[in-house]
Parts: sequence; C-alpha cells; structure tokens
Amino acid sequence: MSRPIVAIVGRPNVGKSTLFNRVLGWRKAIVDPQSGLTRDRLYGIAEWRGREFSIVDTAGLDLDGGKDESRAAIEAQTQVAIEQADVIVLLLDVREGLTPLDREIVGLLRRSGRRVLVAANKADSPGNRHFAHEISELGFDEPSLVSAQHGLGVGDFLDRVIEELPPPAEEPEVDTKADRLAIMGRPNVGKSSLLNALLGDERALVSPLPGTTRDPVDTELVYDGVPVVLVDTAGIRRKSTARDRLEQYSLLRGIHAMERADAVLLVLDASAGVLAQDQHVAGYALEAGKGLVIVVNKIDLVEPAHRKAAYWRTALLRSFKFAPFAPIVTVSAKTKEGIRSVIPSALEVVGQRRIKIPPNELNRVLRQAFVEHPPPSYKGRRLRLGYATQAASEAPTVVMFVNDVGLLHFSYRRYLEKAIRERFGLMGNPLKLVLRAGTDRRTGKAGAKTGAKTGTKTRA
Ligand code: GDP
Repeated sequence: MSRPIVAIVGRPNVGKSTLFNRVLGWRKAIVDPQSGLTRDRLYGIAEWRGREFSIVDTAGLDLDGGKDESRAAIEAQTQVAIEQADVIVLLLDVREGLTPLDREIVGLLRRSGRRVLVAANKADSPGNRHFAHEISELGFDEPSLVSAQHGLGVGDFLDRVIEELPPPAEEPEVDTKADRLAIMGRPNVGKSSLLNALLGDERALVSPLPGTTRDPVDTELVYDGVPVVLVDTAGIRRKSTARDRLEQYSLLRGIHAMERADAVLLVLDASAGVLAQDQHVAGYALEAGKGLVIVVNKIDLVEPAHRKAAYWRTALLRSFKFAPFAPIVTVSAKTKEGIRSVIPSALEVVGQRRIKIPPNELNRVLRQAFVEHPPPSYKGRRLRLGYATQAASEAPTVVMFVNDVGLLHFSYRRYLEKAIRERFGLMGNPLKLVLRAGTDRRTGKAGAKTGAKTGTKTRA
C-alpha cells in the first residue's frame, strides 16, 4: 500500500537537496548508479527506525525538468505539498534568517492549518545560529537545528518526522479489487488527450463502481468488464489557469498519484524525444515498486516506420536501459491509433505483480545461474547461495539467503534478476532482490534466518 509522503518545502538555497540526500543516505536508487540519474533525483524511499516513507524535494522543479524558482512556482509547490503530503517539512536557513519569500511560504503554511515541522539548516556550529531565535518565534513547534551538510541534528529531526507519520494502515485504504493506474509524464506529451481517448473508447464504461474508492480526484471505470481506477485524473484535467498549470506539473502531485497506483503509464511524445525528466519518472516508479508501461503518444506526427512498438523498443533502449522489461505501446490520442492496447497492457503488468513463484523452481533457476556464470570473487571470497524464496510484498520480491550480503556486485545482481525474469516473466515490474545473511534454511545450519518480510533491503 502507499507509503506516507514527506515533502521538503522552502525557497532555493536553504539546502533542501542536501537534506534530501542526507536522509536517503546509503539507500541508492534502483536505476544504475552510472546513469547519472541518481544525482538529480528528487524522490526516494527512506527508512528510519523501521518506518518507510517517501521523501520528495519539492525544489523549484516541475515535471518539465525546468528549474522554475519564481515566487509563483514555489508557492504552487508549497500549495501542492499542503494538499498532498502527509508531513510537511519547512526548511529555513539559520544563518540568513527569514527572507520575504520564506515569510510568504510561512504564510501559506499557516493559513492551511496543517502541522508543519520546521528545520533550521546550516547550524554547523553554535556561532552560525544567528537567526534561531527569529525562527523559533514563527508560531510553529520549536525548529530542529540541523546541518544537512555535516549530518548534525538529522537523527533527532528524523525522530520527529517519524512521530508525525500517520499510523501504518492495518486495512488497505482502498479496495484492491480494481487495478489502479497513474498517468504520468511531462507537460504537453498528451496526458489529458490520452485520458479522454481512453474514456471515449467504447470498451470503457465510466460509472461509479460499488466497492471501489470514492476519491473524487480519481476516475473509476470498467474496461472490457475489468474494474480500473485511473488515479488523480483531476490533476491531469485541471489546468485552466497558469497557477493550475504550475500545480499540475508539480512532481509531488505525480508522486502522490504514483504512490496510490499499482502501475504507472509513462507518456512520452514521439515527436519530441526523451528528456531526463522522462527517465526520472520511470526510475521513481520502479523505485516505489510500481509497474511501468511506456506509452509513446503522438505517433501520427512521425513517419509510418516509427509508429511501431518494435521501433521504439530499440530507440528507447539506451534511455531506459534500467527498465528493459517495461512494455511499450505506441498510440495517437488524436487519431486513436493504438488506444485499445493501453489499458490491456497495463492490466497485464498489474497481473504480473501477483505471480506466485514456486520455490523449488526459483531455487533451481538461481542455482543454474550460479553454475553457468559463477559470481566473481572479491578478496578471495565468493557469493554463495543458501536458499531463495519469494517474499509477500506489493512488488515482486525475492529473498536470497547468502553467505555474505556484501559480496553481491551490481552487475551480478542484474544477471540474477535477468535469470529470474527469463523464467518467470514479471513483465513491466521491478524485481527486488533482497539479500539476507544465512545458510540453507532447510538444513537449519547456524546463521539461517527466516521471516524474510522484514529483512534489510540491500539495493546496490
Ligand atoms: P498534457 O499536458 O500532457 O496533458 O498534454 P495535452 O493532452 O494537453 O496535449 C498537449 C498538446 O498535444 C495539445 O495541443 C494536444 O492537442 C496535442 N496532442 C495530444 N495528443 C496528441 C496526438 O496523439 N497527436 C497529436 N498530433 N497531437 C496531440
């Protein structure tokens, strides 16, 4: 189910991205660390004292990848945080005190009535805390003094964040009968046109479904007899004023929709090519454990040879090399070409999330992979597999009990994932390989641990 969202708001240069990276710490992105995508990311999954949450650096960045740090953009980002985040962190600079823009943001937050955690950054030394007093008098709770750069005060700050998180939901908050899809993508790729084309399809019966979510921002439909929820369609439709536009393209809005979905339809514009922001959204979806379908729209604008999914499979290989398993559908929201494959592809991806992998077969596949291509040795030691099993989890997760979790190299991880996929499919879904120290569970040798669900996740 969806993780709570912690949003960091604040004007430029207070240190939002430094704090963001500090909180994510050693947890690396699921995308290849060499791709450069890890550097500029604004979304990640953090864990503190056993609680997992999503953290978003609202920055002045929108889904267009443009750095809009205008006052209007920052206000819009703050507004979206007020609506969509579970915990709002206002970051200020204790050395510079409150600028007019800070006061503007404070005003918005105060009027919203939301509880806000204030952190005063750059408190590297007692001599640096010039404006701690001014910040304390804002009328929020006492600020946390932190130095994101040096890691000071961050642990105490995270303790407070954890206290503010909503209690973990015992019951799923939404009905799981309907598959939930989020349409995401940069401005003008055709999300709202695609939405209209999907809803206009005669196979789609748009009517309230008994037992599904009653969230007014979503659209519920029955597609070919299957209940489907398109998440946050209000966000896609709403863009009449300039302000609406800024809010619509807020990354945080997309993240909130994504967190509530089973799979993401990432819309690209066939005539525009791929931008880093498209790659980021795909990476975020996989990091969040969601399914992914790449929808290449506007194929009416390109030559006929470039309207086929097979062409895009090759053309997109480099940009999405961390997601070769994502299905690609090519469509024109304008001419309706290909529209009929969009929802069926997405439903197939959601279906693949529920595959039960037979343990014997899983172990056979992994053992064979180890034999065919043994892991490289590191300082004279080699990764050895005890036993593997599928964990109960939202996204496909395989737990491997091994001699030493530190011995799994990134490329070997990829190799094992590929072997599992070749046998079991899991199309369109990230596969989490979780390593735990222990030997063969069946022989009961010392060091073996069970209860894989709560294991430490290692993502290299
Ligand atoms: P959004 O910002 O992603 O929701 O994009 P819109 O749905 O508002 O579309 C942006 C622009 O692209 C509009 O001018 C649309 O008419 C146009 N558009 C959307 N889909 C297509 C398509 O399949 N073909 C063509 N030629 N234009 C499209």
